[in-house]
Amino acid sequence: MYDVIIVGAGYAGAVSARRLADKGKKVLILEKRNHIGGNAFDEPDDYGILIHTYGPHIFHTNSKDVYDFLGQFTKWMPYHHKVVGNVYGKFIPIPFNLNSIRLVYDEDKANNLIEKLIKEYGRETAIPILQLRANKDEDIKELAEYVYENVFVKYTGKQWGVKPHEIDEAVTARVPVILTEEDGYFTDEYQAMPSEGYTELFEKMLSHPSIDIRLNTDAGDCIKLEDGHIFFECIEFNGTVIYTGMADELFDRCFGALPYRSLRFEFEHYQKDSYQTEAVVNYTVNEDFTRITEFKKMTGQQAEGTTIMKEYSLNFEPDTDMIPYYAILNDENKALYKKYNALAANYENLYLLGRLAEYKYYNMDAITKKALELCERMV
Ligand code: FAD
Ligand code: UDP
Repeated sequence: MYDVIIVGAGYAGAVSARRLADKGKKVLILEKRNHIGGNAFDEPDDYGILIHTYGPHIFHTNSKDVYDFLGQFTKWMPYHHKVVGNVYGKFIPIPFNLNSIRLVYDEDKANNLIEKLIKEYGRETAIPILQLRANKDEDIKELAEYVYENVFVKYTGKQWGVKPHEIDEAVTARVPVILTEEDGYFTDEYQAMPSEGYTELFEKMLSHPSIDIRLNTDAGDCIKLEDGHIFFECIEFNGTVIYTGMADELFDRCFGALPYRSLRFEFEHYQKDSYQTEAVVNYTVNEDFTRITEFKKMTGQQAEGTTIMKEYSLNFEPDTDMIPYYAILNDENKALYKKYNALAANYENLYLLGRLAEYKYYNMDAITKKALELCERMV
């Protein structure tokens, strides 16, 4: 009855479902949560404030194709995301930039540093902190140490439980030092929020006569893999399966559990118009939480009162109701993932796709692009 079964209704699953349905395929989505949207899901809280239930999501991309594909299902509201770091009560722009340097050092020292940096790297350049630390110049080294200690060490410790050099360098390189005077968390050409929220975007994307969705359905209960054959509800399924859950779970963790970080969110509501100056404040030197998000500042919602969220990071424990949010990228874990990926390759019509299934740190635009490319190849 179905050409394709997709496990998961997050970006990976929903984008694939829509693209394949548009190409004439009949698609069934199995989603274990009671809603679509995966971690991008949003909903109004008890006070009517639109919150991001699984952490703040800001859309940004350099891909016009991705922007336009998702734009079929939402009106984009331009939004330029700014973040400040609370460094011992002083608020400095993050990514650390030329304005941050001027806030931290006196005028002469700041000018000297800026001149040196621009001479060495060029204006508007983004330099990963681990790379900046390797610079031989004494002044640049001192600056790099300041940024390392006051922006990265404690935040990374809270987020990952390790020092910045102990995780894949691409992780801290997501937030480089940027030699610019323009504050902003992202530098992408398109930066926007879906005007009615992510959940509505997903509802529109999945509203198609050839897409059926079963919520509250764990694929582990109805899909079985055996000797190169896939069974759905005990009957061999010869169509395509796109799996966007955890790769280790699909194979009963036969090589051991893939490590993930989970998150715990604390929401607070205040009867005042504004809680903080920016939508997100990172706590880079103190507190146990990593950041505070104030949703109204990000969604543009006009409402009385405001809701904020404190974000705590912790190790994910398999077989609990914890949610695996982030793959912990290092050589050992990547090698373990490869073993599961090799097992999956024994199933001709099985595709692993998404943050969990591919054990990757995808942003929303990147996984949308990947899903569109996969579907293009499949049809
Ligand atoms: P998911 O969204 O995790 O979807 C997977 C789905 O599969 C889930 O709904 C899950 O319930 C379901 N599932 C898993 N196993 C099973 C099973 N066995 N049976 C049935 N269903 C199953 N990206 C950005 O671009 N900008 C941001 O600002 C941003 N902020 C983020 C903030 C946080 C806190 C986090 C964690 C991520 C953020 N991201 C952001 C990344 C973004 O969330 C991901 O790119 C996106 O969610 C990936 O989609 P996915 O489909 O791969 O995974
Ligand atoms: N990071 C940091 N301090 C900051 C911001 C980021 O140490 O103020 C590091 C930290 O290791 C984090 C990584 O850079 O996990 C990537 O940050 P990003 O904001 O992209 O993380 P995400 O929003 O995906 O959680």
